[in-house]
Amino acid sequence: MEFITPQPTRVGPAEWFTGEVWFDVVHAGREPSRMRVNMVRFAPGAHTFWHHHVLGQTLHVVAGAALVGTRDGVVFEAHPGETVTCPPGEEHWHGATPERFMEHLALWEGSGEGAVETTWLEAVTDEQYHAPRTRRS
Ligand code: MN
Repeated sequence: MEFITPQPTRVGPAEWFTGEVWFDVVHAGREPSRMRVNMVRFAPGAHTFWHHHVLGQTLHVVAGAALVGTRDGVVFEAHPGETVTCPPGEEHWHGATPERFMEHLALWEGSGEGAVETTWLEAVTDEQYHAPRTRRS
């Protein structure tokens, strides 16, 4: 068994995020494990740019209300204890509502030595961010 020494909290880079985002690397598996777990904290209104993950991603909401948007214009609202998965290659964004902080665990897999795990695209427009929200059916 091994205790992982926590790395300092990092600021989400401005080329991937709109607004203030901070993340902790909870765990990054050593090969052959490709486990990736980050705890991500978004200030009110903060959200990712459009992006996709080569092997998909699972988001587990810990605090606040999360918004997760896809190219079909749907913006899901997810609450603490709820989990959203994005399949491999599906373009999406995630972040806080304009009103509150949001915190989620982000879980995904690496794709092997040096290969791209996440492909970052353009910023989410205000219109896309403010689209009407859908709760799970
Ligand atoms: Mn994602």
